[in-house]
Parts: sequence; C-alpha cells; structure tokens
Amino acid sequence: MSTPGAEIEVRNPADGRVVGRVRDHTVSEVAAAVTELRRHQPAWAALAVRERAEWVMRLQDWLVDHAARLTDVVQSETGKTRFDAEIEVPCSIDLARYWARHAAAFLADEHPAPHSPIGQTKRLVTTFRPYPVVGIITPWNLPLMNPCFDAFAALLAGAAVVVKPSEITPLSALELARGWTEIGAPPVFTVLTGGGETGRAVVGEVDYVQFTGSTRTGRAIAVACGERLMPYSLELGGKDPAIVLADADVDRAAAGIVYGGLFNSGQACISVERVYVEAPVYDRFVSTLTAQVERLRQGHDDRGFRYDIGAMATFAQRDIVQRHIGEAVAAGARILNGGKATGVGTFFPPTVLVDVDHSMSCMTEETFGPTLPVMRVADEDEAVRLANDSAYGLSATVWTGDRARGERVARRLEVGAVNINDAFANLVNFALPMGGWKESGIGARWGGAAGIRKYCRGQAITIPRGPELPREPLWYPASRFRSRLVTTLMRAVDARGLRKLPIRLRG
Ligand code: NAD
Repeated sequence: MSTPGAEIEVRNPADGRVVGRVRDHTVSEVAAAVTELRRHQPAWAALAVRERAEWVMRLQDWLVDHAARLTDVVQSETGKTRFDAEIEVPCSIDLARYWARHAAAFLADEHPAPHSPIGQTKRLVTTFRPYPVVGIITPWNLPLMNPCFDAFAALLAGAAVVVKPSEITPLSALELARGWTEIGAPPVFTVLTGGGETGRAVVGEVDYVQFTGSTRTGRAIAVACGERLMPYSLELGGKDPAIVLADADVDRAAAGIVYGGLFNSGQACISVERVYVEAPVYDRFVSTLTAQVERLRQGHDDRGFRYDIGAMATFAQRDIVQRHIGEAVAAGARILNGGKATGVGTFFPPTVLVDVDHSMSCMTEETFGPTLPVMRVADEDEAVRLANDSAYGLSATVWTGDRARGERVARRLEVGAVNINDAFANLVNFALPMGGWKESGIGARWGGAAGIRKYCRGQAITIPRGPELPREPLWYPASRFRSRLVTTLMRAVDARGLRKLPIRLRG
C-alpha cells in the first residue's frame, strides 16, 4: 500500500542510471486530485470546441518547441534508441492536429430525421456531452505517445483528464502535464504517478477508463468498471502475425518485418510477433531476414543514431523473451540470430527462430520483445488458419505482389487492423479505428467521430414541431378510441401487406 510521501525511483534500463524520482500517489491523493478536476470540468465543457482546440494546439506548439528535451526524457527512462525515441513527439503533434481540426464537426449535434411519419411531430436532436472525468492508464513502451493517444480526444470532448502512467516510465507523462501548466491552460489535465494501486484508485474515482496495457490488467479493470457500471475501453496485448505470400517482394517483406518486429526492441503492441511464409519463398525469405537482422546494430548512445536496436524497458520483460526462446529451443526450434541476453543492462539481441510451431510459447504468448519466429506454411489457407489460431486479435500484416489478394486475405483475418505490404501503417492513420479483437481489447481509439464521441454520453432531445394539443392521445384517462386510433395508425404505417388494414376504432 502506498504511504504518503513515498517515491518511485526511475532508472535508465540501458545503464542503470537513476534518471528521476516521482511520487507514489496514495488512494486519498487520487481522490483529492479527481475532486479538483471535477470542480474545473464544467467550465471546460462550457467552452466552445474551438476554444478547447486552441488549448490543444498551444500544447502542440509547446511539444514542438520542446521536442529535443522531451525526446531526451523518453530515451532516458526507456533505454530506447534515438531513432525510436524521436518519433514520439511528431506522432503526438500529428494526433493533436487531427483532433483539433475535426473535433467540432465530430461533436456537433445531430438532427436525425424521425424514423416514422408519426414521429414528424417532433424535432430530434442528439447531443454529445462529456463524461466529467476520464482516467487514462498507460504502459511503458511509448511513454509520451501513450498518454497523447487518448488525452487529446478526451480533453477536446470536454472531459477533465487524469493520466496514470506506468511506474516504470512516468517522466514523459509528467512533462506533458508540465506543458499543460506552462501554456496556462485550465486545470483540467493532471498526471498522477504511482503503481498498480494508484491505477486502481483512478479506476475507483473517474467516470470513464481508457486503459492501455496487458490483457491481465485489462481484465481486472473491466471487472472493477463493471462493479461501478462504468464504461471503459481497453487496448491490450497482441501476438500479431505476418503472412508472406509466395508472390511477395521478399526483400521488402523481410525489411518491413524486421522493422515491424524489432522497432522499440519489439516492445510495441502491434509488433510482428510471428511470421508465416508460403513454402516456395520460405528459404529465400529466411536467409534474407537473417542477413538483415545480422546487420542491425544494438547499443545505447544518448542523442546519437549509431544504433538500430536499444535496450528493453525492464529486466522482467527481458526474462520473458529468454523464457520463450528457451522453451522453443527445448521443443526443437533453431536459433538463427541472437538467442541469448547480452548480460549488459536489459539488452537482448534480435533473435530469429525457425522450426517453430503452435505448441510453443513463442508462437502463442505475447513476447513483447525482439524475436521473430518464422514458420513455413503450405499455402494461403494454412497461413490464415494459423494466423487466426490465437487468443489475441490486434493487427496483422500481409506481404504480397497482388494487392487485391492481400485485401482478400485481410478480410479473412480475425484482427482489428491489417497492413498490406507495410507495418504500423494503421497506427499513423488516425481516420481509421485502432482497436483489438478477442483478448486484444474492447473498443477502439481514433477512427473519426466514434473516437471522440466515446468520451461522451449521447443525449436525445425531442422538441415539439407544430402546435401542441391540450393532451397527447395516449395520456390518461384511458380511452378505447384513442388507444385504437394510435395503434391503428402505427399498424397502417409499419405492418406489411394485408396486415396493414385498419382495425376497428370502436367496439
Ligand atoms: P500493465 O498491464 O502491467 O500496466 C499498464 C498500466 O496499468 C500501468 O500504468 C500499471 O501501473 C497499471 N496497473 C497495473 N495494475 C492495475 C490495476 N489493477 N488497476 C489499474 N491500473 C493498473 O502493462 P505494461 O507491462 O505496462 O505494458 C505492456 C502491455 O501493454 C503489453 O501487453 C502490450 O501489448 C500492451 N500495449 C497495448 C497497446 C494497444 O494499443 N493495444 C499499446 C501499448 C502497449
């Protein structure tokens, strides 16, 4: 249990340096912070959307102005390479602009036509009113981007936002909160650092939870939200398949899979975690992949671009990678590159495995590390069957020389997103929804109006259109005539064929 004043030490996993200390917020501190957010949220929601968008764009300016330092912070708490860290600010500002430009249109009232002629007596309005406080709980892999992924939309919707970042990488999220304060924005955005208990406290206080993290924690949060009858959206783990068809450009497929599987040392939810290759190109693909992986440079130099692959974020994550490889080898798999922790910090070398199958943890459990297990398949059908043979369903890639075939294969895959001849493309196309199927999640982020309206409660308003009668036909006292009048009308409008014929109004 967190004690008042307790702190969490943050280390750079590449070299063990202490890079910061943050508060481990207690349950009562979380409650007090959320109460404060609630106090300021009505005034925030009362602003016009374009006024809220102006604050988000000022934060965007602040992100641009401080990009180099923010990237330093990201790198310092994750041990990732500069190459991987540099993408976090540009992706965040891209998203800020997307939401700021479209929020007003996405949140505008709707005026649907009545579904029946009888409804013509009313003017119909649907409004979108924010949940007062949205709690955003994030993991450690993209410490700046993860909070931005969800906070901008929630703020623009008119909610106040509390972010609970991972206790492993809390510094980047704190920078974001600092930016919000420095631009002088209303106090409707806060970051509360701490561990799982702080996260649980956030779930206990807010009105909507947006969670990104492991399937295990996501399930616990779903149960807690169920108890409170509170909505939530879960972006969880994955075991994303890549399918390489025989007509693929093998060089491009290998390069894309190397990047898709090893970006961020494989610590991305939509990492390629398993590869199925059609038999005719299997040997060529494996030798190309192995050669490309062999050329990767692994190491850590602050602000330099000498390395492709950095450290892993934690020793625990590194140990999962080692276990998956060990279990695979014990069951007959062969290591073609890497395979063993370097012994320096949390570094684990990129590892290609072959002779793997679905009895092995490296093909079924989320590894979240730099492994590329590759399996030979007879044909497209076998590839699709194996790709779908997973508890997860986050995303997939298909590599082919025939785009129409790629799209056909995509439509057979049980996943939330499919990229053809590319990796991660869906992640940077905010007009598309990003969400997992099966144990990879519930709900989605982005994807047009739905991605911001999810932070709102839809409210239906009916307004009389013409002159108002002294009483509506179905108001008391009961009357056979008025009952039959209404039911006859409804039957005349809605029934088919002879059943439309009016029933008697009297008798
Ligand atoms: P995790 O589930 O251990 O922790 C995530 C967050 O939840 C942390 O902030 C943690 O403190 C908090 N938490 C822990 N217990 C909690 C509880 N009972 N109630 C509330 N909050 C609690 O995940 P992780 O190890 O930090 O991240 C890695 C996982 O995140 C991987 O499974 C990865 O696939 C997933 N991920 C998914 C996406 C996506 O968009 N689908 C993106 C990135 C990462």
